[in-house]
Amino acid sequence: MKNAKQFNGMKVLVLGLAKSGFAASKLLHAAGASVTVNDASPDHGNEAAAVLRSEGIRVICGGHPAGILEDGFDFIVKNPGIPYSNPVVAEALGKGIPVWTEIELTSRISEAPIVGITGSNGKTTTTTLLYHMLNIGGKQPLIAGNIGTVSCTVAETATKENVIVLEASSFQLMGTETFRPDIAIWTNLYDSHLDYHGTSEAYAEAKYEITKNQTQDDYLIYNDDQPELRKHALRSSAVKIPFSLTGMKENGISADNKQIYWNGEPYVKRTVIKLPGQHNLENILAATAAAILLGCDKTAIENVLSSFTGVRHRMQFVKELNGRRFYNDSKATNTLATKSALAAFDGPTILIAGGLDRGHSFEELRPYMGNVHKVVAVGETANRFSEFAKSCGVSTVLTAADVKDAVQKVYPLTAEGDIILLSPSCASWDQYPDFEIRGDRFIEAVMEL
Ligand code: ADP
Repeated sequence: MKNAKQFNGMKVLVLGLAKSGFAASKLLHAAGASVTVNDASPDHGNEAAAVLRSEGIRVICGGHPAGILEDGFDFIVKNPGIPYSNPVVAEALGKGIPVWTEIELTSRISEAPIVGITGSNGKTTTTTLLYHMLNIGGKQPLIAGNIGTVSCTVAETATKENVIVLEASSFQLMGTETFRPDIAIWTNLYDSHLDYHGTSEAYAEAKYEITKNQTQDDYLIYNDDQPELRKHALRSSAVKIPFSLTGMKENGISADNKQIYWNGEPYVKRTVIKLPGQHNLENILAATAAAILLGCDKTAIENVLSSFTGVRHRMQFVKELNGRRFYNDSKATNTLATKSALAAFDGPTILIAGGLDRGHSFEELRPYMGNVHKVVAVGETANRFSEFAKSCGVSTVLTAADVKDAVQKVYPLTAEGDIILLSPSCASWDQYPDFEIRGDRFIEAVMEL
Protein backbone atom coordinates (compact mmCIF):
# COMPACT_ATOMS: atom_id res chain seq x y z
CA MET A 1 0.00 0.00 0.00
CA LYS A 2 1.41 3.34 -1.15
CA ASN A 3 1.42 6.42 1.13
CA ALA A 4 0.04 4.35 4.01
CA LYS A 5 -0.01 7.34 6.39
CA GLN A 6 -2.04 9.69 4.19
CA PHE A 7 -5.36 9.05 5.96
CA ASN A 8 -3.94 8.92 9.49
CA GLY A 9 -5.89 11.22 11.83
CA MET A 10 -8.42 12.27 9.20
CA LYS A 11 -12.15 12.37 9.87
CA VAL A 12 -14.11 10.50 7.23
CA LEU A 13 -17.80 9.92 6.62
CA VAL A 14 -18.68 6.78 4.67
CA LEU A 15 -22.15 7.01 3.14
CA GLY A 16 -23.82 3.72 2.34
CA LEU A 17 -23.00 0.41 3.95
CA ALA A 18 -23.02 -1.90 0.94
CA LYS A 19 -19.95 -3.86 -0.18
CA SER A 20 -17.92 -0.81 -1.16
CA GLY A 21 -18.78 1.20 1.98
CA PHE A 22 -17.90 -1.74 4.20
CA ALA A 23 -14.54 -2.18 2.46
CA ALA A 24 -13.71 1.53 2.48
CA SER A 25 -14.58 1.83 6.19
CA LYS A 26 -12.32 -1.04 7.15
CA LEU A 27 -9.46 0.26 5.02
CA LEU A 28 -9.67 3.82 6.34
CA HIS A 29 -10.04 2.67 9.95
CA ALA A 30 -6.96 0.46 9.59
CA ALA A 31 -5.11 3.41 8.05
CA GLY A 32 -5.71 5.47 11.20
CA ALA A 33 -8.70 7.56 10.10
CA SER A 34 -11.62 8.29 12.39
CA VAL A 35 -14.51 6.76 10.46
CA THR A 36 -18.26 7.34 10.77
CA VAL A 37 -20.53 5.19 8.62
CA ASN A 38 -24.04 6.32 7.80
CA ASP A 39 -26.70 4.23 6.07
CA ALA A 40 -30.37 5.04 5.50
CA SER A 41 -31.60 1.48 6.04
CA PRO A 42 -32.58 0.28 9.53
CA ASP A 43 -30.00 -0.97 11.96
CA HIS A 44 -31.94 -4.08 12.89
CA GLY A 45 -30.20 -7.23 11.70
CA ASN A 46 -27.53 -5.34 9.78
CA GLU A 47 -24.58 -7.69 10.06
CA ALA A 48 -22.13 -5.37 8.35
CA ALA A 49 -22.96 -2.64 10.89
CA ALA A 50 -22.37 -5.07 13.75
CA VAL A 51 -19.00 -6.15 12.36
CA LEU A 52 -17.81 -2.56 11.89
CA ARG A 53 -18.96 -1.56 15.38
CA SER A 54 -17.11 -4.51 16.89
CA GLU A 55 -13.97 -3.10 15.29
CA GLY A 56 -14.56 0.30 16.91
CA ILE A 57 -16.09 2.12 13.94
CA ARG A 58 -19.00 4.49 14.60
CA VAL A 59 -22.09 3.40 12.62
CA ILE A 60 -25.34 5.38 12.30
CA CYS A 61 -28.19 3.56 10.56
CA GLY A 62 -31.85 4.28 9.82
CA GLY A 63 -31.56 7.69 8.14
CA HIS A 64 -29.27 10.63 7.59
CA PRO A 65 -29.42 12.71 10.80
CA ALA A 66 -29.65 16.46 10.27
CA GLY A 67 -26.41 18.15 11.22
CA ILE A 68 -24.28 15.05 10.67
CA LEU A 69 -21.77 17.17 8.76
CA GLU A 70 -21.21 19.43 11.75
CA ASP A 71 -18.62 16.90 12.92
CA GLY A 72 -16.30 18.46 10.33
CA PHE A 73 -15.28 15.68 7.96
CA ASP A 74 -12.16 15.87 5.77
CA PHE A 75 -13.84 13.89 3.01
CA ILE A 76 -16.77 11.60 2.28
CA VAL A 77 -16.72 8.23 0.56
CA LYS A 78 -20.14 7.55 -0.92
CA ASN A 79 -21.68 4.47 -2.43
CA PRO A 80 -21.80 4.99 -6.23
CA GLY A 81 -25.58 4.44 -6.24
CA ILE A 82 -26.34 7.33 -3.88
CA PRO A 83 -27.43 10.27 -6.04
CA TYR A 84 -25.89 13.73 -5.78
CA SER A 85 -29.35 15.01 -4.83
CA ASN A 86 -29.05 13.18 -1.48
CA PRO A 87 -29.28 15.94 1.16
CA VAL A 88 -26.02 15.00 2.93
CA VAL A 89 -24.11 14.80 -0.36
CA ALA A 90 -25.57 18.09 -1.60
CA GLU A 91 -24.75 19.84 1.68
CA ALA A 92 -21.21 18.43 1.70
CA LEU A 93 -20.56 19.65 -1.83
CA GLY A 94 -21.97 23.06 -0.85
CA LYS A 95 -19.47 23.16 2.02
CA GLY A 96 -16.58 22.16 -0.24
CA ILE A 97 -16.08 18.74 1.39
CA PRO A 98 -14.69 16.30 -1.21
CA VAL A 99 -17.14 13.50 -2.05
CA TRP A 100 -15.39 10.44 -3.46
CA THR A 101 -16.22 6.89 -4.41
CA GLU A 102 -13.93 4.11 -3.27
CA ILE A 103 -12.00 3.95 -6.58
CA GLU A 104 -10.43 7.29 -5.60
CA LEU A 105 -8.94 5.47 -2.59
CA THR A 106 -7.70 2.73 -4.93
CA SER A 107 -5.79 5.20 -7.03
CA ARG A 108 -4.29 6.87 -3.94
CA ILE A 109 -2.97 3.68 -2.36
CA SER A 110 -2.21 1.27 -5.21
CA GLU A 111 1.40 0.26 -5.76
CA ALA A 112 0.29 -1.76 -8.77
CA PRO A 113 -0.34 -0.18 -12.16
CA ILE A 114 -4.05 0.17 -12.91
CA VAL A 115 -5.95 -0.51 -16.10
CA GLY A 116 -9.31 1.29 -15.80
CA ILE A 117 -12.06 0.02 -18.10
CA THR A 118 -15.22 1.96 -18.76
CA GLY A 119 -17.88 2.35 -21.48
CA SER A 120 -21.62 2.02 -21.82
CA ASN A 121 -21.37 -1.66 -22.82
CA GLY A 122 -18.62 -4.25 -22.91
CA LYS A 123 -16.87 -3.36 -19.64
CA THR A 124 -17.16 -6.79 -18.04
CA THR A 125 -16.28 -8.66 -21.22
CA THR A 126 -13.22 -6.49 -21.88
CA THR A 127 -12.12 -6.67 -18.25
CA THR A 128 -12.41 -10.45 -18.24
CA LEU A 129 -10.60 -10.88 -21.55
CA LEU A 130 -7.72 -8.68 -20.41
CA TYR A 131 -7.54 -10.43 -17.06
CA HIS A 132 -7.15 -13.83 -18.79
CA MET A 133 -4.54 -12.50 -21.25
CA LEU A 134 -2.44 -11.03 -18.42
CA ASN A 135 -2.87 -14.14 -16.33
CA ILE A 136 -1.67 -16.48 -19.05
CA GLY A 137 1.02 -13.93 -19.92
CA GLY A 138 2.41 -14.16 -16.35
CA LYS A 139 1.62 -10.56 -15.37
CA GLN A 140 -0.15 -11.40 -12.06
CA PRO A 141 -3.35 -9.46 -12.69
CA LEU A 142 -5.94 -8.75 -10.00
CA ILE A 143 -9.52 -8.21 -11.09
CA ALA A 144 -11.39 -5.42 -9.30
CA GLY A 145 -14.49 -3.27 -9.33
CA ASN A 146 -17.99 -4.16 -10.43
CA ILE A 147 -17.18 -7.72 -11.38
CA GLY A 148 -14.80 -8.67 -8.63
CA THR A 149 -13.61 -7.63 -5.23
CA VAL A 150 -14.07 -4.00 -4.18
CA SER A 151 -11.12 -2.23 -5.75
CA CYS A 152 -9.71 -0.49 -2.66
CA THR A 153 -9.48 -3.87 -0.92
CA VAL A 154 -7.57 -5.25 -3.92
CA ALA A 155 -5.27 -2.22 -3.93
CA GLU A 156 -4.50 -2.58 -0.23
CA THR A 157 -2.36 -5.66 -0.80
CA ALA A 158 -1.39 -5.28 -4.47
CA THR A 159 2.32 -4.89 -5.17
CA LYS A 160 4.33 -3.46 -8.06
CA GLU A 161 4.43 -6.98 -9.52
CA ASN A 162 0.64 -7.01 -10.00
CA VAL A 163 -1.63 -5.23 -12.46
CA ILE A 164 -5.08 -4.15 -11.26
CA VAL A 165 -7.70 -4.65 -13.96
CA LEU A 166 -10.51 -2.41 -12.79
CA GLU A 167 -14.02 -2.21 -14.25
CA ALA A 168 -15.31 1.29 -13.53
CA SER A 169 -18.86 2.59 -14.02
CA SER A 170 -19.81 6.20 -14.68
CA PHE A 171 -21.23 6.37 -11.13
CA GLN A 172 -17.87 5.37 -9.68
CA LEU A 173 -15.90 7.66 -11.98
CA MET A 174 -17.97 10.68 -11.03
CA GLY A 175 -16.63 10.44 -7.50
CA THR A 176 -12.96 10.76 -8.41
CA GLU A 177 -10.46 13.56 -8.00
CA THR A 178 -6.94 12.21 -8.58
CA PHE A 179 -7.87 8.79 -10.06
CA ARG A 180 -5.35 8.16 -12.84
CA PRO A 181 -5.11 4.74 -14.47
CA ASP A 182 -1.87 3.88 -16.26
CA ILE A 183 -4.00 2.53 -19.08
CA ALA A 184 -7.59 3.62 -19.63
CA ILE A 185 -9.99 1.78 -21.92
CA TRP A 186 -13.18 3.49 -23.12
CA THR A 187 -15.19 0.88 -25.03
CA ASN A 188 -18.09 2.98 -26.33
CA LEU A 189 -20.50 5.76 -25.52
CA TYR A 190 -24.28 5.38 -25.76
CA ASP A 191 -26.94 7.28 -23.87
CA SER A 192 -27.39 5.48 -20.60
CA HIS A 193 -28.25 6.18 -16.97
CA LEU A 194 -29.79 9.53 -17.89
CA ASP A 195 -32.01 9.27 -14.80
CA TYR A 196 -28.82 9.58 -12.70
CA HIS A 197 -26.66 11.90 -14.81
CA GLY A 198 -29.43 14.15 -16.15
CA THR A 199 -28.03 14.79 -19.63
CA SER A 200 -25.97 12.93 -22.25
CA GLU A 201 -23.23 15.56 -21.78
CA ALA A 202 -23.06 14.97 -18.02
CA TYR A 203 -22.90 11.21 -18.62
CA ALA A 204 -20.06 11.60 -21.15
CA GLU A 205 -18.19 13.89 -18.74
CA ALA A 206 -18.50 11.26 -16.00
CA LYS A 207 -16.98 8.70 -18.38
CA TYR A 208 -14.24 11.19 -19.32
CA GLU A 209 -13.02 11.01 -15.70
CA ILE A 210 -11.31 7.75 -16.74
CA THR A 211 -8.67 9.81 -18.58
CA LYS A 212 -9.00 13.30 -17.09
CA ASN A 213 -5.87 13.05 -14.92
CA GLN A 214 -3.82 11.00 -17.37
CA THR A 215 -0.56 12.43 -18.72
CA GLN A 216 1.66 11.58 -21.67
CA ASP A 217 3.08 8.74 -19.56
CA ASP A 218 -0.29 6.97 -19.72
CA TYR A 219 -2.37 5.38 -22.48
CA LEU A 220 -5.98 5.82 -23.54
CA ILE A 221 -7.40 2.99 -25.66
CA TYR A 222 -10.67 4.20 -27.20
CA ASN A 223 -13.33 3.43 -29.80
CA ASP A 224 -12.38 5.51 -32.83
CA ASP A 225 -15.50 4.45 -34.75
CA GLN A 226 -17.72 6.64 -32.58
CA PRO A 227 -17.28 10.33 -33.48
CA GLU A 228 -18.73 11.60 -30.20
CA LEU A 229 -16.40 9.40 -28.15
CA ARG A 230 -13.42 10.31 -30.38
CA LYS A 231 -14.10 13.99 -29.70
CA HIS A 232 -13.73 13.38 -25.97
CA ALA A 233 -10.71 11.08 -26.40
CA LEU A 234 -8.82 13.74 -28.35
CA ARG A 235 -9.07 16.07 -25.34
CA SER A 236 -6.98 13.63 -23.28
CA SER A 237 -3.27 14.18 -22.57
CA ALA A 238 -2.59 10.43 -22.65
CA VAL A 239 -0.97 8.63 -25.57
CA LYS A 240 -3.97 7.71 -27.69
CA ILE A 241 -4.47 4.18 -28.96
CA PRO A 242 -7.54 4.13 -31.19
CA PHE A 243 -9.34 0.89 -32.01
CA SER A 244 -11.47 0.51 -35.11
CA LEU A 245 -13.43 -1.98 -37.16
CA THR A 246 -13.81 0.42 -40.07
CA GLY A 247 -10.30 1.58 -40.93
CA MET A 248 -6.64 0.69 -40.47
CA LYS A 249 -4.91 2.44 -37.53
CA GLU A 250 -1.20 3.12 -38.05
CA ASN A 251 -0.82 3.84 -34.33
CA GLY A 252 -3.49 1.66 -32.87
CA ILE A 253 -5.40 -1.57 -33.33
CA SER A 254 -7.91 -2.50 -36.01
CA ALA A 255 -9.53 -5.46 -37.70
CA ASP A 256 -10.94 -6.44 -41.07
CA ASN A 257 -12.62 -9.75 -41.81
CA LYS A 258 -9.29 -11.58 -42.00
CA GLN A 259 -6.92 -10.19 -39.37
CA ILE A 260 -6.39 -8.06 -36.32
CA TYR A 261 -3.73 -5.41 -37.07
CA TRP A 262 -1.45 -3.79 -34.49
CA ASN A 263 0.04 -0.50 -35.72
CA GLY A 264 -1.02 -1.41 -39.24
CA GLU A 265 0.76 -4.81 -39.26
CA PRO A 266 -1.09 -8.16 -39.25
CA TYR A 267 -1.10 -9.47 -35.68
CA VAL A 268 -3.60 -12.35 -35.25
CA LYS A 269 -5.86 -14.15 -37.73
CA ARG A 270 -9.61 -13.70 -37.14
CA THR A 271 -10.11 -17.47 -37.49
CA VAL A 272 -8.41 -17.88 -34.09
CA ILE A 273 -11.24 -16.00 -32.32
CA LYS A 274 -14.01 -18.02 -30.62
CA LEU A 275 -16.14 -15.22 -29.14
CA PRO A 276 -19.03 -14.33 -31.51
CA GLY A 277 -20.17 -10.85 -32.50
CA GLN A 278 -18.81 -7.62 -33.96
CA HIS A 279 -19.36 -5.93 -30.60
CA ASN A 280 -17.16 -8.53 -28.96
CA LEU A 281 -14.53 -7.93 -31.62
CA GLU A 282 -14.35 -4.35 -30.35
CA ASN A 283 -13.88 -5.65 -26.81
CA ILE A 284 -11.18 -7.99 -28.12
CA LEU A 285 -9.33 -5.13 -29.83
CA ALA A 286 -9.38 -3.04 -26.66
CA ALA A 287 -8.21 -5.89 -24.41
CA THR A 288 -5.52 -7.00 -26.89
CA ALA A 289 -4.11 -3.47 -27.15
CA ALA A 290 -3.84 -3.22 -23.36
CA ALA A 291 -2.25 -6.67 -23.11
CA ILE A 292 0.36 -5.73 -25.74
CA LEU A 293 1.13 -2.44 -23.95
CA LEU A 294 1.64 -4.38 -20.72
CA GLY A 295 4.15 -6.67 -22.39
CA CYS A 296 2.08 -9.81 -22.87
CA ASP A 297 3.40 -12.03 -25.60
CA LYS A 298 1.35 -13.00 -28.60
CA THR A 299 1.06 -16.66 -27.57
CA ALA A 300 -0.78 -15.70 -24.38
CA ILE A 301 -3.14 -13.42 -26.28
CA GLU A 302 -3.83 -16.04 -28.97
CA ASN A 303 -4.39 -18.63 -26.31
CA VAL A 304 -7.20 -16.56 -24.78
CA LEU A 305 -8.74 -15.61 -28.12
CA SER A 306 -8.92 -19.26 -29.12
CA SER A 307 -10.48 -20.46 -25.86
CA PHE A 308 -12.64 -17.64 -24.45
CA THR A 309 -16.32 -18.16 -25.31
CA GLY A 310 -17.89 -15.39 -23.24
CA VAL A 311 -18.57 -14.16 -19.75
CA ARG A 312 -21.45 -15.80 -17.92
CA HIS A 313 -24.81 -14.28 -18.95
CA ARG A 314 -23.24 -12.21 -21.77
CA MET A 315 -23.66 -14.03 -25.05
CA GLN A 316 -22.54 -17.10 -23.16
CA PHE A 317 -22.51 -20.27 -25.20
CA VAL A 318 -24.42 -22.80 -23.07
CA LYS A 319 -24.67 -26.02 -25.03
CA GLU A 320 -25.16 -27.70 -28.38
CA LEU A 321 -27.97 -30.24 -28.36
CA ASN A 322 -28.90 -32.22 -31.48
CA GLY A 323 -27.49 -29.49 -33.70
CA ARG A 324 -29.26 -26.66 -31.84
CA ARG A 325 -27.03 -24.09 -30.13
CA PHE A 326 -28.19 -22.29 -26.96
CA TYR A 327 -26.84 -18.87 -25.88
CA ASN A 328 -27.52 -17.08 -22.61
CA ASP A 329 -27.46 -13.28 -22.94
CA SER A 330 -29.52 -12.56 -19.82
CA LYS A 331 -27.38 -9.45 -19.15
CA ALA A 332 -29.00 -7.87 -22.23
CA THR A 333 -31.37 -5.65 -20.25
CA ASN A 334 -31.85 -3.09 -23.02
CA THR A 335 -32.47 -3.11 -26.78
CA LEU A 336 -28.91 -1.96 -27.51
CA ALA A 337 -27.48 -5.17 -26.04
CA THR A 338 -30.06 -7.38 -27.79
CA LYS A 339 -29.27 -5.60 -31.05
CA SER A 340 -25.60 -6.58 -30.68
CA ALA A 341 -26.59 -10.14 -29.84
CA LEU A 342 -28.87 -10.52 -32.89
CA ALA A 343 -26.23 -8.96 -35.13
CA ALA A 344 -23.75 -11.59 -33.93
CA PHE A 345 -25.60 -14.51 -35.56
CA ASP A 346 -26.37 -15.04 -39.21
CA GLY A 347 -28.25 -18.35 -38.84
CA PRO A 348 -31.91 -19.06 -38.06
CA THR A 349 -32.59 -17.67 -34.61
CA ILE A 350 -35.21 -18.24 -31.94
CA LEU A 351 -35.36 -15.32 -29.55
CA ILE A 352 -36.58 -15.50 -25.96
CA ALA A 353 -37.19 -11.94 -24.80
CA GLY A 354 -39.19 -9.76 -22.42
CA GLY A 355 -39.13 -8.81 -18.76
CA LEU A 356 -39.68 -5.73 -16.62
CA ASP A 357 -41.83 -3.16 -18.42
CA ARG A 358 -40.23 0.27 -18.31
CA GLY A 359 -42.34 1.37 -21.24
CA HIS A 360 -39.43 1.54 -23.69
CA SER A 361 -40.00 0.72 -27.36
CA PHE A 362 -38.46 -2.30 -29.11
CA GLU A 363 -38.43 -0.53 -32.49
CA GLU A 364 -34.61 -0.31 -32.50
CA LEU A 365 -34.51 -4.12 -32.88
CA ARG A 366 -36.58 -4.16 -36.09
CA PRO A 367 -33.63 -4.07 -38.56
CA TYR A 368 -32.04 -7.01 -36.68
CA MET A 369 -35.07 -9.32 -36.68
CA GLY A 370 -34.44 -10.71 -40.20
CA ASN A 371 -33.04 -14.08 -39.01
CA VAL A 372 -35.52 -14.46 -36.16
CA HIS A 373 -38.18 -17.01 -37.16
CA LYS A 374 -39.64 -17.69 -33.71
CA VAL A 375 -40.09 -15.55 -30.63
CA VAL A 376 -41.08 -16.60 -27.14
CA ALA A 377 -42.08 -13.57 -25.11
CA VAL A 378 -42.01 -13.62 -21.31
CA GLY A 379 -42.52 -11.32 -18.34
CA GLU A 380 -44.39 -8.04 -18.02
CA THR A 381 -43.60 -7.06 -21.60
CA ALA A 382 -44.77 -10.42 -23.06
CA ASN A 383 -47.75 -8.92 -24.86
CA ARG A 384 -45.93 -5.85 -26.12
CA PHE A 385 -42.97 -7.92 -27.31
CA SER A 386 -45.32 -10.39 -29.06
CA GLU A 387 -47.04 -7.56 -30.90
CA PHE A 388 -43.68 -6.15 -31.91
CA ALA A 389 -42.45 -9.56 -33.16
CA LYS A 390 -45.63 -10.09 -35.20
CA SER A 391 -45.24 -6.66 -36.76
CA CYS A 392 -41.72 -7.68 -37.83
CA GLY A 393 -43.19 -10.67 -39.69
CA VAL A 394 -41.87 -13.35 -37.28
CA SER A 395 -43.76 -16.51 -38.28
CA THR A 396 -44.21 -18.11 -34.83
CA VAL A 397 -44.80 -15.97 -31.76
CA LEU A 398 -45.54 -17.60 -28.40
CA THR A 399 -45.80 -16.39 -24.85
CA ALA A 400 -44.54 -18.31 -21.83
CA ALA A 401 -44.83 -18.02 -18.07
CA ASP A 402 -41.09 -17.60 -17.55
CA VAL A 403 -37.71 -18.44 -19.07
CA LYS A 404 -37.87 -22.14 -18.12
CA ASP A 405 -41.35 -22.49 -19.59
CA ALA A 406 -40.10 -20.71 -22.74
CA VAL A 407 -37.28 -23.25 -23.23
CA GLN A 408 -39.64 -26.20 -22.67
CA LYS A 409 -42.32 -24.84 -25.00
CA VAL A 410 -40.03 -23.90 -27.85
CA TYR A 411 -37.63 -26.85 -27.93
CA PRO A 412 -40.06 -29.25 -29.69
CA LEU A 413 -40.49 -26.61 -32.40
CA THR A 414 -36.77 -26.21 -33.12
CA ALA A 415 -34.78 -27.67 -36.01
CA GLU A 416 -31.14 -28.59 -36.52
CA GLY A 417 -29.04 -25.45 -37.10
CA ASP A 418 -31.26 -23.21 -34.94
CA ILE A 419 -29.75 -20.77 -32.48
CA ILE A 420 -31.84 -20.39 -29.33
CA LEU A 421 -30.97 -17.08 -27.74
CA LEU A 422 -32.12 -15.64 -24.44
CA SER A 423 -31.56 -11.90 -24.88
CA PRO A 424 -34.46 -10.27 -23.04
CA SER A 425 -34.03 -6.55 -23.91
CA CYS A 426 -35.54 -5.89 -20.48
CA ALA A 427 -34.47 -5.99 -16.84
CA SER A 428 -35.32 -9.12 -14.87
CA TRP A 429 -36.92 -7.72 -11.72
CA ASP A 430 -40.50 -8.48 -12.67
CA GLN A 431 -39.82 -12.21 -12.20
CA TYR A 432 -36.27 -12.74 -10.89
CA PRO A 433 -34.09 -11.10 -8.21
CA ASP A 434 -31.45 -10.28 -10.87
CA PHE A 435 -30.29 -11.08 -14.39
CA GLU A 436 -27.84 -13.71 -13.09
CA ILE A 437 -30.64 -15.81 -11.63
CA ARG A 438 -32.70 -15.39 -14.80
CA GLY A 439 -29.69 -16.64 -16.81
CA ASP A 440 -29.13 -19.53 -14.40
CA ARG A 441 -32.77 -20.63 -14.78
CA PHE A 442 -32.28 -20.60 -18.55
CA ILE A 443 -29.12 -22.71 -18.30
CA GLU A 444 -30.85 -25.17 -15.94
CA ALA A 445 -33.80 -25.50 -18.32
CA VAL A 446 -31.45 -26.16 -21.25
CA MET A 447 -29.51 -28.76 -19.25
CA GLU A 448 -32.78 -30.51 -18.36
CA LEU A 449 -33.80 -30.95 -22.01
P1 ADP B 1 -21.08 -4.02 -19.21
O1 ADP B 1 -20.18 -4.60 -18.17
O2 ADP B 1 -20.58 -2.71 -19.75
O3 ADP B 1 -22.53 -4.01 -18.86
P2 ADP B 1 -20.93 -6.56 -20.62
O4 ADP B 1 -19.61 -7.00 -21.13
O5 ADP B 1 -21.42 -7.15 -19.35
O6 ADP B 1 -20.94 -4.97 -20.49
O7 ADP B 1 -22.04 -6.79 -21.75
C1 ADP B 1 -23.38 -6.39 -21.51
C2 ADP B 1 -24.22 -6.56 -22.74
O8 ADP B 1 -23.81 -5.61 -23.72
C3 ADP B 1 -24.07 -7.93 -23.36
O9 ADP B 1 -25.33 -8.54 -23.32
C4 ADP B 1 -23.57 -7.73 -24.77
O10 ADP B 1 -24.42 -8.35 -25.69
C5 ADP B 1 -23.53 -6.21 -24.99
N1 ADP B 1 -22.20 -5.73 -25.39
C6 ADP B 1 -21.00 -6.19 -24.94
N2 ADP B 1 -19.97 -5.53 -25.50
C7 ADP B 1 -20.51 -4.59 -26.32
C8 ADP B 1 -19.95 -3.59 -27.19
N3 ADP B 1 -18.63 -3.42 -27.31
N4 ADP B 1 -20.83 -2.83 -27.89
C9 ADP B 1 -22.17 -2.99 -27.77
N5 ADP B 1 -22.75 -3.94 -26.98
C10 ADP B 1 -21.94 -4.74 -26.26
